[in-house]
Amino acid sequence: MAAKKLVILGGGESGVGAALLGQTKGYEVFLSDRGNLKENYRTTLQAAGIPFEEGRHTEERILNATEVVKSPGIPDTVPLVQQLKAQGTPVLSEIEFAARYTRARLIGITGSNGKTTTTLLIYHLLKTAGLNVGLAGNIGDSFAEQVIHDTFDYYVLELSSFQLDDMYETRLDTAVLLNITPDHLDRYGYNFQNYVDSKFRILQNMQPDSYFIFFRENQPILDELAKRTPAVRQLPVSLETRPVPGGYLSNGLLTAQCGDRSFTIVQDETPLRGPHNAINMLAAVLAALSVGVSDAAIAEGLRTFQNAPHRLEPAGTINGVQFINDSKATNVDSVFYALSSMTSPTIWIAGGQDKGNDYSQIEELVRRKVKALVCLGADNHKLVAFFEGKVPVIYETQRVQDAVAKGLTLGQPGDVVLLSPACASFDLFKNYEDRGNQFKAAVQALQHSQQ
Ligand code: ADP
Repeated sequence: MAAKKLVILGGGESGVGAALLGQTKGYEVFLSDRGNLKENYRTTLQAAGIPFEEGRHTEERILNATEVVKSPGIPDTVPLVQQLKAQGTPVLSEIEFAARYTRARLIGITGSNGKTTTTLLIYHLLKTAGLNVGLAGNIGDSFAEQVIHDTFDYYVLELSSFQLDDMYETRLDTAVLLNITPDHLDRYGYNFQNYVDSKFRILQNMQPDSYFIFFRENQPILDELAKRTPAVRQLPVSLETRPVPGGYLSNGLLTAQCGDRSFTIVQDETPLRGPHNAINMLAAVLAALSVGVSDAAIAEGLRTFQNAPHRLEPAGTINGVQFINDSKATNVDSVFYALSSMTSPTIWIAGGQDKGNDYSQIEELVRRKVKALVCLGADNHKLVAFFEGKVPVIYETQRVQDAVAKGLTLGQPGDVVLLSPACASFDLFKNYEDRGNQFKAAVQALQHSQQ
């Protein structure tokens, strides 16, 4: 019998992993990338003897595939993808392809915000418990490549809506849906319902004994749940009521109940601040309880967790003024949670590339918490226009060093200087990581100059 032909579109981490897995499973593999591959991926493919092309898509070869694994970065509207779908060629995500070849229990996390934090935390809780667990999806190493050796009993998968779009038969044992707020609408025909439908694909194929963990104060999730009744065990997380089973925050105490297990911890004993992180922690604890992690391991894991950088990351203290790097907060919703987490008078550094921001949802919070606004962007006029008269001091700059120095001048001991931009970073920086790193470097330089 002729070998099945697997074509991979996109030669990033997931595509190269899928190519390697496909080869070990007996497929005739071909990888095609319209751009250029990173050197290490090129070397990997060459070493494995997998044919590939760069800078183009050779249609005849691609259209001849038995199956196609598509990078989440390629939209469905690309004519080649349309053609594949029209002729009935299955187009899958790397997650879907890899999931076929593992018997491990799968925990999947999605949401518009909080995915990475919650995914890393669940992984850390399971690791602390000594479980044999892998981390994959939108984060870390390719899922497909890890599945080649398939030595893990569990995988914790961060899932973007783009990955969910090309998942069909993957069955999760535990699914976490943190929130749905308008995002990426350009990929969803500017129709919010399409984006909601994409997020809810996380529930497809789940069994009556699988767990669905979700934040019940997110209106789009509630509206959608009113329309469908998923036959799964539901574990809502709440900041307002006490769902049982489920998780809630009350008077600084996090409580999670799953089956006959109940777990409690004071949020202040953990390194994660703010109501958004209470939601993330409750979701993570419920996920850990769903796979039987002990109370002792959960407590230790929560206390020892170190989040990924650029998410409310402490960046240093100068003369009693604390600097916090929240460069990953690229939308207004994230800033809402960042400011909600602040317990000291705040000098707020914001700005960058505006994504159609509406600041009215944080106006009240800013009036209450922010003593000065430092606008750091190529074009600050929208921020200035909105907050003029609402914040005692507004300062504008295009240099991160200047923003940091101004923050220190405006601060009193006990104050916080918070970089939480509400905007994309591409006006002055390469990406949000670059922005956060430059901010941290500026704080360090200032620290040294003060010594
Ligand atoms: P993602 O991977 O979905 O982008 P992250 O965990 O990287 O999420 O967090 C990105 C930003 O989103 C954080 O800096 C924080 O401001 C905000 N955030 C985190 N968790 C939540 C949540 N549960 N709800 C709303 N916003 C959140």
